[in-house]
Amino acid sequence: MKQGRINRRDIGKLKEILLDKREEIIGGVKQIHASSQEMGQDGIQDMADEASNLYTKQILMSLSENQRQVLREIDEALDRITEGTYGTCDGCGDPINLKRLQIRPFAKYCVQCQDSIERQTSDTSIE
Ligand SMILES: [Zn+2]
Repeated sequence: MKQGRINRRDIGKLKEILLDKREEIIGGVKQIHASSQEMGQDGIQDMADEASNLYTKQILMSLSENQRQVLREIDEALDRITEGTYGTCDGCGDPINLKRLQIRPFAKYCVQCQDSIERQTSDTSIE
């Protein structure tokens, strides 16, 4: 049996985890903002788009640097699912281990590549 390649069902499950996680991060901020939003709901529909843009920006600004980073990685993972490249290491092109994806569904690299990247970034403090 070929090891690695995750199947469509795995991806479906991982996508749910990603969406849950995303909702968890954004949902937490939404609750904080919900009270201040309540007054503006008299239905100014034509401004809805602009408002939701602002709203998103506001949400992003309320997130910690770490949460924003996770959110970006989740979005990227969701993009990769759409593109059909999800589960493949961005560094070496090998399939990322399913167990790794279950722990870290937004992982972009396999363990080896992640390791060497982390080593590189901690080494590049001297320019
Ligand atoms: Zn790799």
